Amino acid sequence: MGKKPMKFIGRGLVDKGDKKSAVGKIYLIIERCKGCNLCIEFCPKDVLKESSVFNKKGYHPPELIEVPGEKMCVGCGYCSLICPEFAIYTEIEEDEKEAE
Ligand code: SF4
Ligand code: SF4
Repeated sequence: MGKKPMKFIGRGLVDKGDKKSAVGKIYLIIERCKGCNLCIEFCPKDVLKESSVFNKKGYHPPELIEVPGEKMCVGCGYCSLICPEFAIYTEIEEDEKEAE
């Protein structure tokens, strides 16, 4: 019974004045989440919310809610820093396509 991280992909401009943007990828290990909501409360972009699904422990893991052009994950990694269960983590990828 492996733990399969759920992947969300968020997009947001990190360097607005230049050519590069970044893609913030959020990975969530649902069964590790204990529903403390710290990641939700402290996300500086306000792009996480409590989901309606339950994990096996009976908690609601977070889900990504983005509004294109308004609220976007920038892959800052703060949610992974604050999570006490190491249930959420992020990666950033440079996205040259947005540079056109
Ligand atoms: S990486 Fe940053 S912006 Fe994205 S969900 Fe986590 S805390 Fe929010
Ligand atoms: S901080 Fe971690 S344990 Fe708490 S709700 Fe977010 S993902 Fe779940």
